[in-house]
Amino acid sequence: MGDRKVVKELLSFIESSPTAFHAVDSMKKMLEMEGYQQLLESREWELTEGGKYYVTRNGTSLLAFRIPKRNFRGFQIMASHSDSPAFKIKENPEMDAEGAYVKLNVEKYGGMLCAPWFDRPLSVAGRLVVKTKDGISSRLVNVDRDLVMIPSLAIHMNRKANEEQKYNVQKDLLPLYGLSEAKGSFMRTVAEAAGVAENDILGNDLFLYNREKGSVWGANEEFISIGRLDDLQCAFGSLKGFLAATDGESIPVHCVFDNEEVGSSTKQGAASTFLQDVLVRISEGLGRTLAQYRQALAVSFMISADNAHVVHPNYGEKACPTNRPVLGGGIVIKYSANQKYTTDGVSAAMFRILCERSEVPYQMFLNRSDMAGGSTLGNLSANQVAVNCVDIGLPQLAMHSPYETAGVNDTRYLVRAAKVFFESAVRENAAGEYRI
Ligand code: ZN
Repeated sequence: MGDRKVVKELLSFIESSPTAFHAVDSMKKMLEMEGYQQLLESREWELTEGGKYYVTRNGTSLLAFRIPKRNFRGFQIMASHSDSPAFKIKENPEMDAEGAYVKLNVEKYGGMLCAPWFDRPLSVAGRLVVKTKDGISSRLVNVDRDLVMIPSLAIHMNRKANEEQKYNVQKDLLPLYGLSEAKGSFMRTVAEAAGVAENDILGNDLFLYNREKGSVWGANEEFISIGRLDDLQCAFGSLKGFLAATDGESIPVHCVFDNEEVGSSTKQGAASTFLQDVLVRISEGLGRTLAQYRQALAVSFMISADNAHVVHPNYGEKACPTNRPVLGGGIVIKYSANQKYTTDGVSAAMFRILCERSEVPYQMFLNRSDMAGGSTLGNLSANQVAVNCVDIGLPQLAMHSPYETAGVNDTRYLVRAAKVFFESAVRENAAGEYRI
């Protein structure tokens, strides 16, 4: 697949995924088009050779897998995340301002760059939980029009705006929703967008999102920008590679967790038992013993795929002096001595083999030795499912802005490497000696 086609598909995937709920729904549609069948954790599973399945948790995390026709060795798992920092709408959100306006009360979800949220059209999307005849049911909602805006304070009223700006979410970041006539209409607007009665809404998880469409830009159109590249670019690349892969001697597992931006410790986060629960059920469903499950884990491999920082053109001094990834330079392998990233000599070597096999360039990321940096999924998942793991990501700028920037070529590199990865299997020839 050419760069253009992949990039177009990526942008339309992200545009149709304004929240984690929508991202999982977009992936479900892609899987169902390829014949994947949904399994419920609350039911018995009947797994068959050649079967294609997926499981979701909370509507925001998803695991998809296939059972190969031949006997499998281990699991080849690629994990990414569905959530991004955003402003969440609070309960009873409407607030009067000056008797003239209605604004909305919001709180932070995750650690975002605040400044780029100002002065651009925003909308509201997420999940509604509505009353049904015999209980409750979840509905996706996207108001899908320019609905609210967070206006800046003019420079004339804040002469220090360009020198020392601090943002207080309760004071500075409340979005303007309407003139006073709009009072009392916010939840009705949301209910109408979802096609439900306002009175039936018993719960909601609603977020602001940036309305700006994706863009391909630069002297030779070498860059792309859109919100939520972290981490939907990796989730998309993983899924495309997963769907393109042919069966090998392992069980391929495409895995997308929610709540990475707030510590991953929810029931659907990377630190939860979700992955372990599913792998155990696959193993049991295929008639394997617990000892055989453990043997399979010893020859399993996990790629934790979460976007990576490149050297910023205006802030070169913020990057490690000897490892300086760039946009378009290929998949980034992330290292950290204190194991905030799981990469070690063995997992790096295995991943480099996969990159070389798929003819994909790669580059290295480490924080400056005097900077702490972020963390990600790999080491949290490893607490539940301890397997060889490498932390990687696609190179990007402006991480956690509502409009992030990446390279045009890199998505395709991840799709290719993911395909080769999902087709591969690990064998341990002797202690510490692996074939992949
Ligand atoms: Zn991320």
